[in-house]
Amino acid sequence: MQPHILVAEDEDALALLLQYNLEKEGFRVSLAGDGEEALILAEESPPDMVLVDWMLPKVSGIEVTRRLRGRHETANVPIIMLTARGEETDRVRGLDTGADDYVVKPFSMTELFARIRAVMRRIRPGLADDQVRVGDIVMDRVAHRVKRAGQEIHLGPTEFRLLDYLMQHPRRVFSREQLLDAVWGSDVYVEARTVDVHIGRLRKALNAVGGKDPIRTVRSAGYSLDAESA
Ligand code: CA
Repeated sequence: MQPHILVAEDEDALALLLQYNLEKEGFRVSLAGDGEEALILAEESPPDMVLVDWMLPKVSGIEVTRRLRGRHETANVPIIMLTARGEETDRVRGLDTGADDYVVKPFSMTELFARIRAVMRRIRPGLADDQVRVGDIVMDRVAHRVKRAGQEIHLGPTEFRLLDYLMQHPRRVFSREQLLDAVWGSDVYVEARTVDVHIGRLRKALNAVGGKDPIRTVRSAGYSLDAESA
């Protein structure tokens, strides 16, 4: 089945260029010229991936992302934010809203496709066991669900992959760079502090149901999932 990608971009020339190149790569493309249309299209046909422009008429890219994350069908859809130069100081805020990655305009198609491929690889990893358990944390990879002490934990897609990776190697300490390579992909440029942002969100979600903090911060080394605490 062709993966379905939703492109929300109000610059017509760029939208058409994206559509042309994405279709050439085998995607089914839906185009939205503003945020409102993007939300309607996503509801009609939930996409496998979303490219959303930061500055969109009617509903902003950030708001589109937040609303997609709030809906069950699109809660875990990979979202790449397209930002213009000058908006870069807001990058981390962009990730805070739930986007998985961002590309700064003007970008080359080669750069964009490297990001898309990395994200697609992450959502179709195959091979691994369907269910893993570390301490009181249980992850169901097929249902895309996480429970701690029997209670459902709600995670964004990046936090989900981060936890998935940590659960495959409990008690092992990973540096930020190692986590970036494993979770974001080595061909994607993401700053190391982005890892801290997502670890913070993962930790908050896991601890929301009580119990000891299962994520250990190892000073100047990185992070590990502590099986005893979990
Ligand atoms: Ca725009």
